[in-house]
Amino acid sequence: MMKDTRLKQLFLLFIMCCGAIHAQGSQKFKVILDAGHGGKDFGAVYNGYVEKNITLNVVLKAGKILEGDNGIDVIYTRKADVFTELTERPGLANRNSGDIFISVHCNSENTKAAFGAETYVIGTTKNASNIDVAKKENVVMSVEKDYKVKYEGYNTAAPEVIAGALSTQEPVLSKSIDLASKVQEGFVNNAKRKNRGVKQAPLWVLNKAAMPGIFIVLGFISNADEGAYLNSDAGQDEMAKALAAAILAYKKEYFTVSGAASSAATLPAKPVAAATTTTTAAANVNTPVAASTAPVVFKVQIAASGTDIALEPYNFNGLSPISKDASTAVIKYFYGGVSSYAEAKELLVTAKEKGYTSAYVVAFRDGKKIPLQDALK
Ligand SMILES: [Zn+2]
Repeated sequence: MMKDTRLKQLFLLFIMCCGAIHAQGSQKFKVILDAGHGGKDFGAVYNGYVEKNITLNVVLKAGKILEGDNGIDVIYTRKADVFTELTERPGLANRNSGDIFISVHCNSENTKAAFGAETYVIGTTKNASNIDVAKKENVVMSVEKDYKVKYEGYNTAAPEVIAGALSTQEPVLSKSIDLASKVQEGFVNNAKRKNRGVKQAPLWVLNKAAMPGIFIVLGFISNADEGAYLNSDAGQDEMAKALAAAILAYKKEYFTVSGAASSAATLPAKPVAAATTTTTAAANVNTPVAASTAPVVFKVQIAASGTDIALEPYNFNGLSPISKDASTAVIKYFYGGVSSYAEAKELLVTAKEKGYTSAYVVAFRDGKKIPLQDALK
């Protein structure tokens, strides 16, 4: 009897602990940081600069900054110089129900002239803007045992081809692109890197992550100046700070939106033209940050593609009007343009009915995208 009660107490305690962990876990924004390569896989090596070391240092530095935010859980695919199989990287992200997956790399090339930072989202060979990076980065699979079994659809003769690419990433591609854009803006504006843009490539490590995912190229270690910068403590600090700031900006925009959206139904139909400033870094480079009273326009982001698609309703399952943002290599497509969030939510329902199940509402002021929660203020 005594024993029985003790067991019950233990069981209750167990249930309470699980509940607490679960409740806490579900409230945190989970960032999966993937330092490229490691252990026997060195990645690129030039002038004594080793990709696996640079990626690990930048990831650890960025992770330390993010850990300072109580609302963030940072999960690392590796925290030391160890070999981690490619399947395990998105695998860990999926098992932990990550909110974003960030793979950090460096590039190199023989001419040694190329430099600058670029960030990739998944793309098939059809819409990829760069398959060379995919060839280099996917090839690590073939050094692993049983790669034919593990990397279903992977073809050593054409390592850039991934069968079924986009299947996991397509629903979250728009968010991946936004995250990639924020990271690029940070690298350019804060770390003063040359902007090589947001690109698409058939990268295996992104293909299997069931959450917004990006593949960052910090720069080219084959370039003498950039290699020295990326290998330096100061350079790694700057890149890590820029990366962490971009992740925090993404969290602010997307992770709190669900709460804001649920209470948005009570907002007035006409948005209040509050004096808010845009937070899009790129938009502010050459223009003074000033309070804008321009009205907010809500649209529904339905798709993103490396291909320029004619804005005809038949290309978008009958939806009209369609507009686009072609300021990055990956073009974003929007449905509608209304002045109230309530109307935008109705458009969202229509877009989902037409098959755009991962569509979501975005807001613009003066033609520039602004965080949804700022628009709802
Ligand atoms: Zn790499």
